[in-house]
Amino acid sequence: PDSAPMHTAFDPQALPPLREVIARFGLDARKALGQNFLLDLNLTGRIARSAGDMTGVTVVEIGPGPGGLTRALLATKAKQVIAIERDHRFIEALQDVIQAADGRLSIVEGDALEVDPIQIAPAPRVIVANLPYNVATPLLIGWLGRIEEFVSLTLMFQKEVADRLVAKPGSKAYGRLSVITQWRSDARVLFNLPAKAFTPPPKVESTIVHLTPRANPEPAEWKALEQVTAAAFGQRRKMLRQSLKSLGNAEALLAAAGIEPTARAEEVDVAGFAALARAFKAR
Ligand code: SAM
Repeated sequence: PDSAPMHTAFDPQALPPLREVIARFGLDARKALGQNFLLDLNLTGRIARSAGDMTGVTVVEIGPGPGGLTRALLATKAKQVIAIERDHRFIEALQDVIQAADGRLSIVEGDALEVDPIQIAPAPRVIVANLPYNVATPLLIGWLGRIEEFVSLTLMFQKEVADRLVAKPGSKAYGRLSVITQWRSDARVLFNLPAKAFTPPPKVESTIVHLTPRANPEPAEWKALEQVTAAAFGQRRKMLRQSLKSLGNAEALLAAAGIEPTARAEEVDVAGFAALARAFKAR
């Protein structure tokens, strides 16, 4: 009794199976909240491990739902998990996990679009989530704005969105989201999950993406970068000397940024867009 407290590892399998939890609490999936659950603990374990070394970090999870991924996150060496859930039905259903987690799990009831993870979680912090697809992109854009505050983000997206996040110039998927994401982060696809891995299955395949802050992002102002990418990709087939006219003297901007006036948006790399944003800001 007078020895140091034993480290009691969290065992995700020791709790009732997720299907039982869903049945007991009547947790039918709501489409409007992007509810597609992962009930296979081997799979959630794989996702949690793919996030990297969690020793001592605080994990923010968006949308724990019935808690499959939450359990897996608690089985890592993370210091604690703070989960943000909007659907009140899950708060009650997660009480067993909270009990078993012995102080390492807390739930914030609210809309993730309105909760700042930096405010609720101490550093070092990561985000790991099977994101609700209807708000995945706005959530990511919000976090990218301050990504240096995170060790990493490990996030599930629809495959089509994941493809855009990591797309390189010259490809069809390359666009505004690619430029903004790769300007602020190193983004890497980890693996795909078939629709049938989820309950209920969504219409499309899913992909886990791992993002870490870029050490030295090209200097540029967020708003200016948004404006130049919006103008450029808004008419992606046109030459930039045409598509950037809405920003003022397009030829002068392109010359200042060192970009050919005949280039098209999808040929310009992240450094090029950053240069264009600086030229636009300085005009
Ligand atoms: N993490 C669970 C899993 O992997 O089985 C559930 C993932 S499900 C794709 C998305 C979850 O996010 C649901 O639990 C849903 O209620 C929740 N959610 C949807 N919109 C939200 C929002 N704006 N803020 C917080 N949670 C949200």
